[in-house]
Amino acid sequence: MERSTIVRVHDGLHARPATRFVKLAKGFESDIELIKADKSVSAKSSVKLMLLGVKENETVTVRASGADEIEAIEALIGYLEDPHAGTAEEDRAEKAPAEPTPVQPKAFSANSNTSATGKLRGVAASEGFAIGPAFGFFPAEIKHENRLLAANEIPAEAGRLTQAFATVQHRMDMSLAATDLAESDRGIIAALKDIACDDELTQAAEALVKEGMDAVSAVIGATSRIAADFASMDDPYLNARADDVNAVGRQICLALLGQDDANLEAIPTGAILIADDIGAWDLARAPLKRIAGVICGHGGATSHVAIIARAHGIPAVLGLGQSVQELQHVRSVALDGNSGDIFPDPDQMTVDRFHAQIGVADTERDALKAYKNIVPKRADGTIIEIAANLGSLDEIEAAQEAGAMGVGLFRTELLFMRHIHLPSEDLQTETYTTLAKAFAPHPVIVRTLDIGGDKPISGIDFPDEENPFLGWRGIRMCLDRPDVFKPQLRALLRAAVHGNIKVMLPMVSDLGEVRATRSLIDECAAELKEEGRDYANFDLGVMVETPAAVMIAPMLAKEVAFFSIGTNDLTQYIMAADRLNPTVAKLNDVTHPAVMAAIELTVKAGVEAGIMVGMCGEAAGRADLIPAFVNMGLTELSMSPASIQRAKKCVWELGQVGNQEGE
Ligand code: PEP
Ligand code: MG
Repeated sequence: MERSTIVRVHDGLHARPATRFVKLAKGFESDIELIKADKSVSAKSSVKLMLLGVKENETVTVRASGADEIEAIEALIGYLEDPHAGTAEEDRAEKAPAEPTPVQPKAFSANSNTSATGKLRGVAASEGFAIGPAFGFFPAEIKHENRLLAANEIPAEAGRLTQAFATVQHRMDMSLAATDLAESDRGIIAALKDIACDDELTQAAEALVKEGMDAVSAVIGATSRIAADFASMDDPYLNARADDVNAVGRQICLALLGQDDANLEAIPTGAILIADDIGAWDLARAPLKRIAGVICGHGGATSHVAIIARAHGIPAVLGLGQSVQELQHVRSVALDGNSGDIFPDPDQMTVDRFHAQIGVADTERDALKAYKNIVPKRADGTIIEIAANLGSLDEIEAAQEAGAMGVGLFRTELLFMRHIHLPSEDLQTETYTTLAKAFAPHPVIVRTLDIGGDKPISGIDFPDEENPFLGWRGIRMCLDRPDVFKPQLRALLRAAVHGNIKVMLPMVSDLGEVRATRSLIDECAAELKEEGRDYANFDLGVMVETPAAVMIAPMLAKEVAFFSIGTNDLTQYIMAADRLNPTVAKLNDVTHPAVMAAIELTVKAGVEAGIMVGMCGEAAGRADLIPAFVNMGLTELSMSPASIQRAKKCVWELGQVGNQEGE
């Protein structure tokens, strides 16, 4: 028997909803198919189901034959007609099994010999001193074995393959059992596990082994074929599943080879993370509390890895280039995030020096706590807002603890990178509302999505670009994709009801971008009104981070409510020096007269127009530059929570000196 219906599942049968549908289907003994147009697939394979590409509001037919066909059709049609089917709520209800095994920290002892490989130097990216056991994050490259099996070898190889699938599935179960797993991460791991358990994949790999191919090559063959199918679909959500299939294939190959993948979850407390390259997203979801320091071959002082490290007070030295390979096999390492020096396997004298410096830094940090609740003012009484730069709601507490006077930059990228598909308007509304409430009555400045080809996200197809930093990013991409931009603007309008939300646009280089955004905001407000939803208007500002924005600052100032200077990008664009390229790190210097002049021009234009001018680039937290910025006329400085108390002290002292001079 069969029945047709219109799919109401929000966003269609992508990842989670598809695998939940399959789970439901597997609970019935009948053979069940899902039919869309003239294509029919087994409803018991999530890979096949996802490849069918069923979208919200499409018509599909469920066909079942067997003893329980009536119940099966009833249940599956009910699922397809439920807009919230396969959501996080359902996942939460399904609790994971056993307790995870705690990771035992490796013992750390100083090497009594002098440094074996000598001191190295990278870019000082997050201040502070750290010393601890080295934890290498160097994911292995997997290659085809290309072994042709003799007939009598095939059964054993097939057994190895089955065992490898079982090992990976078990590991994923163990990860899902972790009680401290964020819901978004749970969703990602659960989706990977569904792929690892899918008959489409296991059977394809088994078939290749039965033809005489070694198991590693068979897994690579099967996964790349399925990944290619996903990559060729005309749906960006499903295109992103290709990466999931490849990730699962990699895990199975490693299990076959008896190798462990580099896994940040295994990092022991107090260890120094060493990597050639690490994605901002990988670092953001790593157990940051356990990481004492970060060393990386790639990156620079204003790369997002540096920003995350600073936000969490983790010393970091980045941009080591090839020399990071020398650290692959060291046992311990000391790093100085102020100078960029690294000491592999430090001698006892260095160990003692580092412990002493860490002690001094701790004492200084304690002394700064006295400034937590101070409201710093210029000598003329003007309040200088010391606000926090945040990337996720997890950082709210640290910012409040530090005494942040609101949020000067909420980077929304992580919200988009964290999810297996674009975050819905409701989820965004919830996120921005939480922020607004947490800091009310202080302002919370949310930056609209600032993403480009250098850090793509699922749901947006970025073209290959020769120069992603000069390409389709930030406001440029958002204006071309109202389907992405409007839900964010609508969510911000809805959240503005609950607190002091302000919105700023990244990468602005033309007045037209501000005007086009404003008309989109008006359109969103009109829609919300029509729908009878609550919303409130917000102040719209721009980041000044392109040379063009500096040059047209007097014109921009007439059209926006505030400026926030993004010194990270402004420095790279003024100096034509890539912020991620360690070779030009010297030029990437905010104190260069060219950059300081650009900042001054911007402040002047803003002050003359009577709008607020703030700064949210990393320079805003630099105690050596704060006096100059305050003297220029900046009235808001936004920074990593870890820098807030020192900045408050700095501005407060400046006010005291000014008062004494005025007496
Ligand atoms: C900047 O460019 O200064 C900035 C704050 O934005 P991001 O570092 O996220 O590019
Ligand atoms: Mg920027």
